[in-house]
Amino acid sequence: MTATIIDGKAIAQAVKRNLKGEADQLKGKGVIPSLTVVLVGNHPASESYVKGKIRASEEVGINSQLIRLESSISERALLDQIEQLNADPSVHGILVQLPLPDHINPDRVIATISPAKDVDGFTPINVGNLVIGQEAFLPCTPFGIMELLKQSGTEIAGKHAVVVGRSNIVGKPISLLLQRADATVTMCHSRTVDLASYTRQADILIAAVGRPEMLTREHVKPGAVVIDVGVNRHHGKLVGDVKFDEVKEIASAITPVPGGVGPMTIAMLMRNTVEAAKRIGK
Ligand code: NDP
Repeated sequence: MTATIIDGKAIAQAVKRNLKGEADQLKGKGVIPSLTVVLVGNHPASESYVKGKIRASEEVGINSQLIRLESSISERALLDQIEQLNADPSVHGILVQLPLPDHINPDRVIATISPAKDVDGFTPINVGNLVIGQEAFLPCTPFGIMELLKQSGTEIAGKHAVVVGRSNIVGKPISLLLQRADATVTMCHSRTVDLASYTRQADILIAAVGRPEMLTREHVKPGAVVIDVGVNRHHGKLVGDVKFDEVKEIASAITPVPGGVGPMTIAMLMRNTVEAAKRIGK
C-alpha cells in the first residue's frame, strides 16, 4: 500500500480562501480584522515565521502590523507594550513570537495577553478552557492537525491515537483535542520505555518530537494515518520526525514535511484572528 499524501498546502489554501470571504463580510460591516505580531530581537527562524504570518494575513485581507523591539528591551517595557495592544480596540489578535531573550519570562508575557486577543491560544485562560471543554482559541498547530484529519476524511471516534511529544504547544493540546473527538489517546515522551510498542498500536500517529526521521516503519502499524509535526534541518534539508519514504509505503495517509502541518498552523492563526475580529468587532 502506498499512502495518500495529505496536502496541507492545498488544504491551507482552501481555509484561507474561505476566510477571505469572511474577512470581506466583516469589512462590509466596518470591522477590519487585524493582527499585531510582536517580534523581540531578530532570531533568524522567528524572522521567517513572522514573514509567513504577515504574508498569509495579506492573502486573507487581515490588516497586519509588526512591532519590532530590541532584544535588550526590559520585561516591564514589553508587558507595557502588550497592555497597550490589549486596550486598543482596533487590534483583534496579538501574537508574541517565541522564543524571547533569556532575561524575559515567556510565561509572564503570554499571561499578559488578553485572552480575547490570544490568537495563538497560549494564555492560561484559553488553555484552561480547552481542558474543560469550554469555548477557547485553540493553539494553531493542533487546531490545524484536527482540520487535516477532518479534510482527509480520517475517522477519529473510537480510534487509538498515539501522540509522541508532550509540549504545551503541540503534544498536550493535540492529545486533548483527539480525546475530545472520542479517540482513545496514548501520550508518549522521552521517558517512554519501548516507544515502538505504543506507536505500533496507533490508528492515528502524531509525531511532535523534533528529532529528524526518528519514527521509522518499525514504529508504524500498516494502514495508520501519520501526522508529522516535526520540522528539522538535517544534512541541509528540511525533514520531519518521520522517515517519510519508508513510512509512506505502509501508512494509509501521511503528511509531508514541508507542506503538511506547517501551512495549516498559519492558516489556523488566520482563522483565530478572523474569529477574534468577529467577537470583538460586534
Ligand atoms: P518540544 O521540544 O517542546 O517537545 C518535544 C517533545 O518530544 C517532548 O515532550 C519530549 O519529551 C519528546 N521527546 C524528545 N525526545 C524523545 C524521544 N527520543 N522519544 C520520545 N519522545 C521524545 O518540541 P515542540 O512540541 O515545540 O515541537 C516538536 C517538533 O514540532 C519540532 O520539530 C518543532 O520544530 C515542530 N513544530 C512544528 C510546527 C509546525 O507548525 N509545523 C509548530 C510547532 C512545532 P519530554 O517531555 O520528556 O522532554
